[in-house]
Amino acid sequence: MFNVNDIRQDFPILSRKVNGKPLVYLDNAATSQTPQQVMDVIVDYYSNYNANIHRGVHTLSQEATDLYEQARLKIQTHFNAQFSHEIIFTAGTTHSINIVASGFTSLLKKGDEIIVSALEHHSNIVPWQMLCERTGAILKVIPMSEDGELLMDVYKELLSEKTKLVFVNHISNALGTLNPIEYIIDQAHRVGAAVLIDGAQACPHLKPDVQKLDVDFYVTSAHKICGPTGVGMLYGKEAWLNKLPPYQGGGEMIDQVTFEKTTYANLPHKFEAGTPNISGGIAFGAALDYMNGIGFDNIHAYEQDLLHYATAQLLEIEGLKIYGTSKNKTSVISFNLKGIHPYDVGTILDKLGIAVRTGHHCAQPIMDFYKIPGTVRASFAFYNTKAEIDVLVEGIKKAKMMLS
Ligand SMILES: *Cc1c(COP(=O)(O)O)cnc(C)c1O
Repeated sequence: MFNVNDIRQDFPILSRKVNGKPLVYLDNAATSQTPQQVMDVIVDYYSNYNANIHRGVHTLSQEATDLYEQARLKIQTHFNAQFSHEIIFTAGTTHSINIVASGFTSLLKKGDEIIVSALEHHSNIVPWQMLCERTGAILKVIPMSEDGELLMDVYKELLSEKTKLVFVNHISNALGTLNPIEYIIDQAHRVGAAVLIDGAQACPHLKPDVQKLDVDFYVTSAHKICGPTGVGMLYGKEAWLNKLPPYQGGGEMIDQVTFEKTTYANLPHKFEAGTPNISGGIAFGAALDYMNGIGFDNIHAYEQDLLHYATAQLLEIEGLKIYGTSKNKTSVISFNLKGIHPYDVGTILDKLGIAVRTGHHCAQPIMDFYKIPGTVRASFAFYNTKAEIDVLVEGIKKAKMMLS
């Protein structure tokens, strides 16, 4: 395993105080903290290499291009993509999904069907609704159980030769459920549908193998995996990326431009118009290096231990209900105290230096399912400790006393 106290030394922010109390950061599902090693890469880039990429013959430009393309190779290796040009740098998960949703406009016709799941983040619902409006395609939803699991028997019934696309998140950000994506992908392929998996919430906890999954598109954001905000990835199988039209026009994405006709550049540049987030892309690669240095097996085992410890402690608090009780879940706990608004709990916890998320977590349909306005969500990373969970438990008890 690893020594969590050593790990915490890598994250300067973890030693700051909030409202006079040591910060207890339990909002990792919204964004993770950044280790010094990743920050150093960003400073090093601007100190020594800053230049525009793929353009100049000059040394700085070539060095910056090399670093950026090395990061793409790191991402390719991490996700085990067959080709590096199947890795498209984007601004993040939302941007990646929109590239695919926009691209499918010309590939769908009226009456085609798109299947999404009841557990989706808004960024994985709205682009498909917009796509349906543009094309006349119909959106179908895989329902969920009280435990927060998708109903696979209903999913099987929804699939038909009309199904063109299936979109499901790998792990739910609101409940932490790990969805059976191997089965979902296999069943979709049997009717000839393409599958996009939203991996934003999975990549901090496990290492997906896109070839083994045989997934058509897989998307994620760097900022939930110890990288910077505003950068992410779209993985697509080469054949699919060749089929999709470009998303934005501009520099970098063209082959030849005349006023009569423009031909597009090859992958991945076809989808990378304009100057990208160069330092962000390089830092994304560094973040994966950092995580792999600790090891995803170690991260997973440690976080599962935190999850079980926290779940047991929280359930001892009378009137506390946990939403999302699947056996297959990651270190996310969504809960409410009976008769108390989640916002009020979050406010008191903040006074105690504890950062949790409150609200609908960009997943309003899930809240509607449970008929609640929202939840308090504590989400743990590999740098959190059992001592911090104890602070959370005491904080919740205090909030309950003050508010009831
Ligand atoms: C965070 C998250 C997103 C959105 O990611 P952005 O970086 O904001 O684009 C989408 N889906 C899931 C499951 C998420 O957790």
